[in-house]
Amino acid sequence: MEIVILAVVIAVVALVAISGLVVSSRKKKRLPPAPPSSPSVTAPPAEPHVGEEAETPREEPRRTIEEVDLPGATATEPEAPAAPPAPEIEVPEPSAGRLVRLRARLSRSQNSLGKGLLTLLSREHLDEDTWEEIEDTLLTADVGVAPTQELVERLRERVKVLGTRTPDELRALLRTELLQLVGTDSDRTVHTESGVTADGQEKPGVVLVVGVNGTGKTTTTGKLARVLVADGRSVVLGAADTFRAAAADQLQTWGERVGARTVRGPEGGDPASVAFDAVKEGVAEGADVVLIDTAGRLHTKTGLMDELGKVKRVVEKHGAVDEVLLVLDATTGQNGLIQARVFAEVVDITGIVLTKLDGTAKGGIVVAVQRELGVPVKLVGLGEGADDLAPFEPEAFVDALIGD
Ligand code: GDP
Repeated sequence: MEIVILAVVIAVVALVAISGLVVSSRKKKRLPPAPPSSPSVTAPPAEPHVGEEAETPREEPRRTIEEVDLPGATATEPEAPAAPPAPEIEVPEPSAGRLVRLRARLSRSQNSLGKGLLTLLSREHLDEDTWEEIEDTLLTADVGVAPTQELVERLRERVKVLGTRTPDELRALLRTELLQLVGTDSDRTVHTESGVTADGQEKPGVVLVVGVNGTGKTTTTGKLARVLVADGRSVVLGAADTFRAAAADQLQTWGERVGARTVRGPEGGDPASVAFDAVKEGVAEGADVVLIDTAGRLHTKTGLMDELGKVKRVVEKHGAVDEVLLVLDATTGQNGLIQARVFAEVVDITGIVLTKLDGTAKGGIVVAVQRELGVPVKLVGLGEGADDLAPFEPEAFVDALIGD
């Protein structure tokens, strides 16, 4: 009998222990996952890329069962964790002199042009074949037919005048001629001066960023916001590329990093109304500049014309647009020039941004695209880093082409 009672007691104790374990492990399973960080606390990815999902860093250390089963805390109502600290607003690099700092990126792919020309010009006999080679070098570097012919013509004259050529003389000569080709007297400022709205309020500078998707338009808008913030301006972003699902998120992430608000609309919504609201927000906030990222679907020219034309007209209800920047992927060469032509017919381009000059792009595209549009290159993209957008400086560019 005693044995039976003992057996029953052991069984009961065992049961209680097992059920306790089960409850405990159920409690553990029922624990809600680490609370999702709110947009304001999610550390943005170092570099937002197209199609790349934002990684949500695990900010909560793993909790033990003991920590979880604190007295008073239930499995379904865990104690709210302390809010993680708000993201730090980054301080972007100053924009002045960026091209000089980033010069190494440029020369990696570009200096074959300068070096090639210098080698050819150093030949003892500059015969017709050599001049043809010089011409080919320029054409291969995307300089374009007319500017190539002009440059070769001028080089021929100057070399003749020079007579004997030392390497230093040749380098100086080539530098002068390339600089002239690139142009040193264009106004390359991105105009963002504030003005006055139709109803007399102070209006921020308004910049429209246009270009075909994939050229780096959204990234450039984000990087430009950083350039402006670095220069002490306050910025509002308008995510008027409502057709590409990730574009607004991507832009917002860029904005959050430098404390710039992003105005966005519903996916697939009317880009013009987002652009209008962005400027309205800029006026209300007393911001210095509103940057508007537009949709770049190059489906048909009429479609593009309707879309961009409308965005510009609607924004102009607030007052003038100060800059229309066309973003071109420098690696696309001739294709980029065709895009440039189409956009220029649709909207008055006031400046060009050449992206991806750090890649396989050929430097001559700077010359070709300026000729094509009669508009200066104002900014160049030299990498995927947040501060890899540089104001274009002809001297630094040409120096990178020919090397020191
Ligand atoms: P969008 O569709 O025109 O808005 O293009 P995105 O801004 O999303 O950029 C497309 C891709 O180009 C992204 O992976 C960018 O990081 C990349 N990109 C943009 N500018 C540059 C640049 O100057 N250099 C390099 N290497 N990549 C760039």
